[in-house]
Amino acid sequence: MTKKLLLIGGGHAHLSLLKKFKQDQFADCEVTLLNPTRTYYYSGMFSGYVEGIYQLDELEIDLQTLCEKAGIQFVEGTALSVDAKQKMVLTEKGDILNFDVLSFDIGTKRKGVSELPDSDQIFHLNRKEQIKELGDEASKRGDVVIVGGGAAGIELSFSIQSWKKKNNDDGTVRLISSSALYGESSDDRCKKTLKAKIIQAGIRLHENERVERIKESKVHMNGESVSYDSLLWMTGSEAPKLYKSSKLPIDKEGYLLVEDTLQVKQYPFIFGSGNGVTIQNHPDLPRNGVMAVRQGGVLWDNLKGFLQSGEGYHFQPQKRYLTILSTGERRAYLRYGSFCTSGKLAWKLKNKIDKKFMATFK
Ligand SMILES: Cc1cc2nc3c(=O)[nH]c(=O)nc-3n(C[C@H](O)[C@H](O)[C@H](O)COP(=O)(O)OP(=O)(O)OC[C@H]3O[C@@H](n4cnc5c(N)ncnc54)[C@H](O)[C@@H]3O)c2cc1C
Repeated sequence: MTKKLLLIGGGHAHLSLLKKFKQDQFADCEVTLLNPTRTYYYSGMFSGYVEGIYQLDELEIDLQTLCEKAGIQFVEGTALSVDAKQKMVLTEKGDILNFDVLSFDIGTKRKGVSELPDSDQIFHLNRKEQIKELGDEASKRGDVVIVGGGAAGIELSFSIQSWKKKNNDDGTVRLISSSALYGESSDDRCKKTLKAKIIQAGIRLHENERVERIKESKVHMNGESVSYDSLLWMTGSEAPKLYKSSKLPIDKEGYLLVEDTLQVKQYPFIFGSGNGVTIQNHPDLPRNGVMAVRQGGVLWDNLKGFLQSGEGYHFQPQKRYLTILSTGERRAYLRYGSFCTSGKLAWKLKNKIDKKFMATFK
C-alpha cells in the first residue's frame, strides 16, 4: 500500500531532501511538503542583499517549482497542531493532512518578537515584506539599532554600516547583545578579532547589555537609551509552540526531543531535524544553519530506511566546522575550530559556497 510521508517546514534539512528526491524516489511513497510560503529566502546571502551586493531573486528558492521537479506535492500552509496518535496534521486554513511518516524541519522563532511594538520601523524578518524592505534605502538611512549578537545580528550590522559608507549616510549603527558577542564561538582569540573588526568598522557595540523596553523609537537598556530610525530584532532562538501544543516529547525549553537517528523515541514514525529540535545525546549543539544542513543526509537515509529496508544511521555532529560571516565590502571573517582569519579571500570563498548552494535549487 502507498505510504504518505509529510514534510513540515522547508528548512535546510528538508531542502536537501528535495534535491535528493529529484534523483531518487522512495518506492510506493507519496511525499508532501507543507510550508507557510512558496518562497524560502536563503539566510547565508541575506546580508549581501541588504548591503546591495545581491538582488533579492538570488536568495529566493521557489519551493513549489522545486517540489514539482522532485515529483512531490507542495501545500502552502502552516501546521497548527499534530495528532501523533491519529497521524493527522491540522493547518491554519483548516485542512487536515494525514500521514504515515512525518518529518519536522520548522526552525525556531526569535526570542521576544511577540512583545515588540507594532511599528513599520521594526524588522524581525519573519515576514516576506520585511525581507524586501530591508533592501530599500529608507530602512537603512539614519540611526539603525540591531539587537542580537549572533551571526545574523553581526552580519547585518556590518552590511548596513558598509551600505552607509557607500551611500554617504552619517547615521550610526549600534549592535546590542545581551551576552558576550557571538556566544557560539568559545575561542577567546577569535572573539577578540571579530570584536576588533566591529569597532574598527565604526559600529557602536553594546555588549552584555539587555534591552529592557522599546518605546517611542527608543531602545532602553540598563541606564542608557538610544533612539533609532530602524530597529532590527535579531535575537536568539526560541522553540516553536507547535511541539508543546501537540503534546510531543520536548526538552525543558520546548524543542522537539529526538534520538540521534533524528526520530522521536515515543513515535519512531516522527522525525525531526534543524534548529527546532534537540538531539538527546547532543543537547548542546549550536542552533545554526551548518548543523541543520548536515542533518539532511542522515534524515534522507533514515526516512528511506524506515519506509523501505528498516536500516538507520546515527547523526554524528562534527566537532569543528567552517563558519564564514560577511563583514561588509566583500570581506569576511572565517572560523574553523580555533583558527580564524578575515579578509577578501574569506568573502570570495563564502560567495562561491553560497552561489554553488543556490545553483543547486535553480
Ligand atoms: C541574516 C542571517 C544570517 C545568518 N547567517 C548564518 C551563518 O552565517 N551561519 C549559520 O550557520 N547560520 C546563519 N544563520 C542562521 C540560519 O539561517 C538558521 O540557523 C537556519 O536557517 C536554520 O535552519 P532550519 O532548517 O532549522 O530552519 P529554517 O531555515 O528556519 O526553516 C524553517 C522553515 O519552516 C517553516 N515553518 C515554520 N513553522 C512552520 C509550521 N508550523 N508549519 C509549516 N512550516 C513551518 C518556516 O516558514 C521555514 O520555511 C543566519 C540567519 C540570518 C537571519
